[in-house]
Amino acid sequence: MMPAFKQDNLRGEMRFDEPLSRHTTWRVGGPAKQFYRPADRADLLRFLQGLDRDEPLFWLGLGSNLLVRDGGFKGTVIATQGCLHRLQWREANRLFAEVGVACAKIARSAARAGLCGVEFLAGIPGTLGGALAMNAGAFGGETWRQVLRVETVDRYGQVRNRLPDEFEIGYRHVAGPEGEWFLSAELALTVGDVEAAQREIKRLLEQRAATQPTRQPSCGSVFRNPPGDHAARLIELAGLKGLRIGGAQVSEKHANFIINTGQASAEDIEQLIEEVQRVVQLQTGICLVTEVHRIGERA
Ligand SMILES: Cc1cc2nc3c(=O)[nH]c(=O)nc-3n(C[C@H](O)[C@H](O)[C@H](O)COP(=O)(O)OP(=O)(O)OC[C@H]3O[C@@H](n4cnc5c(N)ncnc54)[C@H](O)[C@@H]3O)c2cc1C
Repeated sequence: MMPAFKQDNLRGEMRFDEPLSRHTTWRVGGPAKQFYRPADRADLLRFLQGLDRDEPLFWLGLGSNLLVRDGGFKGTVIATQGCLHRLQWREANRLFAEVGVACAKIARSAARAGLCGVEFLAGIPGTLGGALAMNAGAFGGETWRQVLRVETVDRYGQVRNRLPDEFEIGYRHVAGPEGEWFLSAELALTVGDVEAAQREIKRLLEQRAATQPTRQPSCGSVFRNPPGDHAARLIELAGLKGLRIGGAQVSEKHANFIINTGQASAEDIEQLIEEVQRVVQLQTGICLVTEVHRIGERA
């Protein structure tokens, strides 16, 4: 198949038919037709400028909230992790980071500088880009509460500065100007104490390890919590803890997690998601909505 980009002056890494199972925390997913990891921001902009106008495009962070179907993605994946990784202090309490920076690194860097507000990011195994796209949150903290401004880029490589009020932001939901992706963000933090911030991170990580199956491949919580309730409580109430389809299983430790027990396919996981939704709806009348994003085609 002909590549859908034209330039030969690019410095990033292009792979064809790259298995996306290598890039998702569930460890499942078919291949991407093209997989590009830019060398840096300038290289990314050049790549976008040379891309076919109708090429389907998908932005990938650490793949920790993503179900890629077994048939793969017939378009171009842009991987941000390991490349868009600049992190700088702008003023004493303002942190600038590109979207490929891991959430854990942001939390640790802030704590080391004695700054508070992003400790909750420590246990979220994604990138800043994913956290912006999902409004990732935990233990009462939420990504967009800390955002002062973001840079976005469109498919033609045009960069824009945008303010939070240009986005619709909710619980695990962010909607912004059509056809723009995040490039970087500036976060506002509050001055605190190094030891207190590091202690808080340790406490939150311990709490996570005690309640979540952090050692098995998953994508974290599969379903959003319905208003005033918890998806995990409803799934447990419906007697679905431990339910298996193929290699996919509803976690015994946390019912809102589906784990890959070793050889799961994306199809196993998707069928289990649908079965959980069916049974919970039947037994409680509540329709669980997925938090995890799905892309690609069924095999
Ligand atoms: C063990 C475990 C625990 C978790 N705990 C939590 C938790 O406590 N709280 C929580 O909120 N989430 C949690 N998650 C889910 C996940 O880590 C977060 O949603 C995270 O923010 C996803 O980031 P990512 O880089 O992996 O995004 P990906 O999974 O790579 O992508 C997710 C979505 O973001 C989009 N995206 C990625 N980068 C960009 C960009 N630069 N511009 C525009 N869109 C982009 C993708 O296109 C996709 O639609 C957990 C996951 C796991 C595996």
